[in-house]
Amino acid sequence: MKDDRSRELWQRAQKVMPGGVNSPVRAMSAVGREPIFIRSARGCHIEDVDGNRYIDYVGSWGPMILGHANEDVVAAVKKAAERGTSFGAPTEAEVTFAEMLGRLMPNLEQVRLVSSGTEATMSALRLARGYTGRDLIVKFDGCYHGHGDGLLVAAGSGLATLGIPSCPGVPDEIAELSVSLPYNDLAAVEKLFHEKGEQVAAVIIEPVAGNMGVVPPAPGYLQGLRDICDEYNTLLIFDEVITGFRVALGGAQSIYEVTPDLTTLGKIIGGGLPLGAYGGKTEIMSKVAPSGPVYQAGTLSGNPLATAAGLRALDLLDVAGVYERLEELAARLFDGLGQVFSEAKLPHCGNRVGSMFCYFFQKGPVTDYASASQSDNQAFARWHNAMLARGIYLAPSQYECTFMSLAHDGDAIDQTLSAAAEAVKEV
Ligand SMILES: *Cc1c(COP(=O)(O)O)cnc(C)c1O
Repeated sequence: MKDDRSRELWQRAQKVMPGGVNSPVRAMSAVGREPIFIRSARGCHIEDVDGNRYIDYVGSWGPMILGHANEDVVAAVKKAAERGTSFGAPTEAEVTFAEMLGRLMPNLEQVRLVSSGTEATMSALRLARGYTGRDLIVKFDGCYHGHGDGLLVAAGSGLATLGIPSCPGVPDEIAELSVSLPYNDLAAVEKLFHEKGEQVAAVIIEPVAGNMGVVPPAPGYLQGLRDICDEYNTLLIFDEVITGFRVALGGAQSIYEVTPDLTTLGKIIGGGLPLGAYGGKTEIMSKVAPSGPVYQAGTLSGNPLATAAGLRALDLLDVAGVYERLEELAARLFDGLGQVFSEAKLPHCGNRVGSMFCYFFQKGPVTDYASASQSDNQAFARWHNAMLARGIYLAPSQYECTFMSLAHDGDAIDQTLSAAAEAVKEV
């Protein structure tokens, strides 16, 4: 594999950017290698600056469910760009987009558009605190909700429940306002609420966890959270930044039939451009400025290029058979990989919900962060490098999802499985 250009760029990048990247996971350090610089992408393929071509299962960490450079989305962005790239004033596309989100996720009576998933979760928490007049937030070990101060609290370490910050720069006073509990453990939530329920503004959760590998909610778990939140007048926030328009058109809330008070969205809804959103019932959302006192704003919020891409992307997803196709493709690859690992007698445990899945290198089962972290990270690193060498681009961490897109087809899956049958020998 030729890598002269990537290596040269990596040398330059490290001088001018911290760690050489603009987002830490891109550095590929978890699999013990240097990053690959990407030049272009189309469909299910990405191409690096040295001309190597890969089948991509990262999908920009989730957004690219239609595949890369989807013709319709690109055309919509071009057309929007010709009309001006930002006005700082309301546009028709924002209204249409908010109406569309409300139609596809009926719980979103009102939404506020922002520019990233982080901004969506930070804003939703401020709103929950402003609405309830309480300060405490409950989150879950291994769930990632963006890099907001109160949300970086020991995402999974043993100090999690103590609210000790795992990130320098987050003041203790802020970290102490977040409590992190084990995922899928309703008793832990009941216990905390028994002691402090009246102080909890919100419970925030990934309804299918996608940042500790993939961990689905246990049967009844999300409903249990709903019931506890109702009992204590605490807001339930579903962070559907990954799962929204990924696991189903109506998000995880539609498949598990549990309605949160607020929903945060990002990734897919921008069609590959920077766009996030938070929303819920009008009664709660009307507390946001200018209709209410909870201030939140953004110069580029509802940006015309992002709304054009997002509208087109959601249109293309709102077509009969789309999610059935994603399910079928993902099941085929997931089952095929399971067979490859079984034949190689490699300890493995897979979790899948629709077109997001993950194989942990361990016996399993994996139901929370503690069990996820029992995985053999060295084996994963070998697997990742062996697949990469065979033209398969997987997320460079044991704790990330494999994402299927509508641009993957039978040929791509067959190629991936043949590569896997060889690569597994190097694990
Ligand atoms: C990616 C992610 C975020 C943060 O979104 P950014 O656009 O990266 O700021 C928040 N929540 C979840 C569940 C995510 O996966």
